[in-house]
Amino acid sequence: MSLSEASPRPSRETHVAPAAANEPVACVARPAWVEVDLGQLAANIRRIRADLQAAVRLLYVVKDEAYGLGAVPAARVALANGVSQLAVYTIEEGAVLRAAGITAPILILGERVPDEVSGVLSTGLVPCVGTLEMARFFDAAGTARGRRVPIQVKINSGMNRYGFHWRQAAEWTAGLAALRGIEVVGMLSHFAQSDEEDKTFARQQLGRFRECLAIWTAAGLSTGCVHMCNSGGFLDLPEAHFDMVRVGLLAGGVYPSSVCRRIEGLGPVLSVRTRIVAEQQLEPGDTVGYGMRWSAERPARVGVLPIGYGDGFPRVRNQGAALIRGHRVPIVGGVAMDALTVDLTDLPEAVLGDEAVLMGRQGNEEITAQEVARLKQSVTYDVLVGWRRRLPRVFRNETGSAS
Ligand SMILES: *Cc1c(COP(=O)(O)O)cnc(C)c1O
Repeated sequence: MSLSEASPRPSRETHVAPAAANEPVACVARPAWVEVDLGQLAANIRRIRADLQAAVRLLYVVKDEAYGLGAVPAARVALANGVSQLAVYTIEEGAVLRAAGITAPILILGERVPDEVSGVLSTGLVPCVGTLEMARFFDAAGTARGRRVPIQVKINSGMNRYGFHWRQAAEWTAGLAALRGIEVVGMLSHFAQSDEEDKTFARQQLGRFRECLAIWTAAGLSTGCVHMCNSGGFLDLPEAHFDMVRVGLLAGGVYPSSVCRRIEGLGPVLSVRTRIVAEQQLEPGDTVGYGMRWSAERPARVGVLPIGYGDGFPRVRNQGAALIRGHRVPIVGGVAMDALTVDLTDLPEAVLGDEAVLMGRQGNEEITAQEVARLKQSVTYDVLVGWRRRLPRVFRNETGSAS
């Protein structure tokens, strides 16, 4: 039977969206997945919370699906374990949290454009504002509605991306003070480098931020909640904690660098797992995969893992490893879009169906996000958000009870 016989194409007039359009597609779980340990996330949040002065609030940055964890489940667990605010980068990210019933304050980072003003307000997000032009748009919206729009003032202290420039603090202070339709509920800045050993530039930025705050308060204005630290700043710059810290990466149990302070008990939340789904016996001289990039030097057994660069794994060849039965086995040949191969010759106990870990822990072994970042020639942030949506997310320890 041809496809057209099975489902005749409806005419334009009679066409209606299929009923199934919004329903989940029933399918068997794929033998390759991202595992998110919400119990570990809860534990991490509690450790971070316990490490902070009691008066300092904890904001959890959940942009880009909470760095790949899943924004809604991650936000829920975090809010139940000591986080008081969230931050996103797009209105849609904020709207998804609101639609899930999350009522906590949500800061929207970066800079908005005029077309986004109504979306920010209808979603109940608090925008960061770094130009007088955008401040005036929010001011006009507040005046039109008869109530002040809460905003946070973003200060550029040296990152030179978003924000009012520290050198012009007197000017923008006066400009903002004149606006009656906005209410400044916070002031923030962002470090260009907070997780390296050399904190010279970070301290310079901190000094500039303090100068801006002094000019602001000298004008008789209230700063609201003051904050500057990301994960690196939270760990290594306690003098910059102010009223709140903004933590993203570290909540997932991944450190921003190898030199920043360590907190006992933090562990990785996200792991990437698959299974051996095929195997091949090779004779010396036989090759594996596209381009014949690896050849057996002895009788060898190769296992196939159904995950590739189309899922976000780095496109390496003869580099990297998987964990199987608690042992490291090397990746051999080139990583393809949907598959990669590992040398099982020295692991005779491995059988079809065994779990293989490409990032995360198994037994006493671990492949860290840093290790995958080296393969990807990138940073851990990129590795975490780089696992593609076609890998299903499997949530463990959903109650989020801290271990
Ligand atoms: C992403 C982001 C953070 C969080 O940074 P981490 O290093 O992941 O903790 C904090 N502040 C701003 C402005 C950000 O964009």
